Amino acid sequence: MFAVLGVVGGIGSGKSTVCRAVTELLPVTLIDGDRLGHEVLTESAVIEKLVRQFGQTILDTEGRIDRKTLGKVVWSNDESGFPRLKELEQIVHPRIQERMKTEIELARTSHQCGVLLDAAVMLESGWSQICDRIIFIDRPDQARKAAALARGWSEQQWIQREQSQWTLADKKTKADFVIDNSGGLELAVRQLMDYAQQEFQWG
Ligand code: ATP
Repeated sequence: MFAVLGVVGGIGSGKSTVCRAVTELLPVTLIDGDRLGHEVLTESAVIEKLVRQFGQTILDTEGRIDRKTLGKVVWSNDESGFPRLKELEQIVHPRIQERMKTEIELARTSHQCGVLLDAAVMLESGWSQICDRIIFIDRPDQARKAAALARGWSEQQWIQREQSQWTLADKKTKADFVIDNSGGLELAVRQLMDYAQQEFQWG
């Protein structure tokens, strides 16, 4: 039976890598929340709202959103000391959810056996409501942090971004299934494969 499996986990836990590997083995559609997040920034209605919220400086000379500048603004603090990320999320999250729903319907009508929805802030944003199951990918903190720093993040960026998401314990509690990604990637891929196959057959 067609099912939407939402994949969550900490930063650098292996969500994208494990999901990508499974799409090469099963007829499933991978929907990448990060990609949709970038795509909605090209919508004129979204651009208008963002400029109203954050000012013209977030635009480049062509009138497109300059993601680097927007990033600096949303990770800076407001008067109460909170990052302005929430203001961005209020504008873009509803549009990301619409796009998710559209892509899920496309996968359904294309006779895929299901969808893997990879979104770090699935639970925080409420997108989990469009999932049939939630899968948590568990990877030791040290390995996750090393992956983030290898990406060019500073220690401070790592801390700030970790703090902006739910705790791992909270995410794990909401999950229907936990994947142990403390060993080799192949082992994690196998666990997701087996679970997905079971859900697509009898879900
Ligand atoms: P984010 O939420 O930040 O987008 P993510 O959860 O999607 O991260 P990935 O980008 O898939 O994480 O993985 C982070 C890095 O860790 C990648 O370079 C990936 O290849 C590596 N990685 C993930 N799991 C393992 C593993 N079990 N063994 C070795 N490397 C791994």
